[in-house]
This record gives sequence, C-alpha cells and structure tokens, in this order.
Amino acid sequence: MVSRGELYAAVRQILEKSGTDSSGFEAGCIFEKAFGRPFPMIIMDRELDVPEETSSEILKMAEKRSSGYPLQYILGEWDFFGSTFKIGEGVLIPRPDTETLVEQTLDICRKNNIKAPVIVDLCSGSGCIAVTLSRELTGSEVYAVELSDDALPYLRENVRQSGQNIHIIKGDVLDSSAVKAVPEPDIIVSNPPYLTEKDMSELQKEVSCEPEKALFGGRDGLDFYRKMTPLWKNSLKKGGFIIYEFGMGQHNDVSRILEENGFKDIQLSRDTGGIIRTAAAQK
Ligand code: GLN
Repeated sequence: MVSRGELYAAVRQILEKSGTDSSGFEAGCIFEKAFGRPFPMIIMDRELDVPEETSSEILKMAEKRSSGYPLQYILGEWDFFGSTFKIGEGVLIPRPDTETLVEQTLDICRKNNIKAPVIVDLCSGSGCIAVTLSRELTGSEVYAVELSDDALPYLRENVRQSGQNIHIIKGDVLDSSAVKAVPEPDIIVSNPPYLTEKDMSELQKEVSCEPEKALFGGRDGLDFYRKMTPLWKNSLKKGGFIIYEFGMGQHNDVSRILEENGFKDIQLSRDTGGIIRTAAAQK
C-alpha cells in the first residue's frame, strides 16, 4: 500500500511527464474526485495509507489525463461563472472565454435597463450560459435550444440541478421550427461552433476529444452566424439584442454579418486573455 503523500508525488510525476504545467492543481482535482473531499483535508494526513482500490483508481485517472484526455471529462464536472456544471464526452467543456459572453449580456441588461427579459440561448450545450443568465437576471425567462442527443442529458441535468425554470427546446437552431417554439425574445445569445477547417486540422489533443459538432463552424468557421442571424432576427423584439461569442480574428466578419442583417451599435468585448471574443448588436 502507498501513503497519500507517496501517491500524490507519483501522480504529479505521471502528469508532469505528459507536459502539463499545472500538475499540482490537476493532481489535487483527481484526489478530490476519488476521495470525495477537498484536497487540503486529504493531504493533511500524508502518512495515511490509501486503500488499494482508491490508489489504482487515482493512478488510472492520472494515466488517462497524461494521454491528453481532458481533465474536465475525467472529473465529470467543471465550474463556470461560480457554479458547477455536469459535463462529459458529447458536450463542450465550459470555458472561461464564454464568461465574457455572460458578462456582456448582463452589462447590456444593466445599461439598457432591461428587466425580466425573455432570452434564448442557441446551441446551449451544457447549459452553462442559459443557467447562469437565468440565475443572474431575476424574473428572466430563458429558453435553451440544443439539437445534440449527446448534449441534451447534460443540459437537462444542469437545469434540474440549478433549480432554475428554463425551457429546454430540442431543436435545430438553423430550422424555423425552433424559432416558432420560442416567444419573441428580448435577447438572443449564442456560442455556436466557430472553428474553421484549418483549426480542426490542428486541434490540441484535449480539444479533439470534444464533440466535432460543437466545434466546427464550416470552412471559415462562420456558417452559424451567417445562417442563424437572418433566421432569428425577425422574431427578436424591436430594440432587442443579439450577443455572439466567436473565435480569435472573427470579429470583423461577425460584425459585418450583423450589419448586413440590419443590426446597429455593434459593441465588441475582450476576454481575459485580451482577445476580442464577443459582439452585441441591437435590432
Ligand atoms: N472556444 C472553443 C475552442 O476554441 C470553440 C468552441 C466553439 O466553437 N464555440 O476550443
């Protein structure tokens, strides 16, 4: 049997071999998952022996992680905007970049004095955007549209766990029947797939484990903006807002698509890495 301290050192070594620069953090996450308790409490008793079953489970997780499998999928949950979301293969992992989309939406509501808005989240995935907006905007009525049978169970579970009253719509955001299923929104938000063909050919190992249909946005990555914008703009209330996330360098193209569809006052926002990540525009 190994002690907790010995096992921790072994796990860090396995993770470091694979080149991660956050082996301490990741080892701590894996320990928490296996022990079901906060890491500092586990490691305070460094001398305690770890049951064989637990140590082999931990080593298996570490090996899997070091093969390039996402830590988030191993843990089965990840934090976004201060709460925890269930995730796994088949659903996009919530990213800090997407918090910019939530921030900008909240900001638009504050500045324009929008109270209790009807919001539709297109390509909802895990539901991290829909759940967070519903929680942060008292009285809002949020609709989450998602097509993927692999993602929907996570969306349903995250909505259930949040206790928010969100309307889940299984449907294709590029089909007019989804538009008809939602009452006129004040705000449309979306983090659609936006990676280009070239991006897809050079994906980081971890990202290649995520669902292609949540990542790939057509040859130039812009398919969803080109198709969703004309399809949804008519149902949006006059004076309402559309708020999109996109990839690095896509802001001019997305802004142009919004303008071509008659939107005005385009406001761009940067993520914490300084990259222009979102655009809000008014109808
Ligand atoms: N932000 C993701 C990435 O760069 C892409 C997700 C998306 O296409 N919406 O890996």
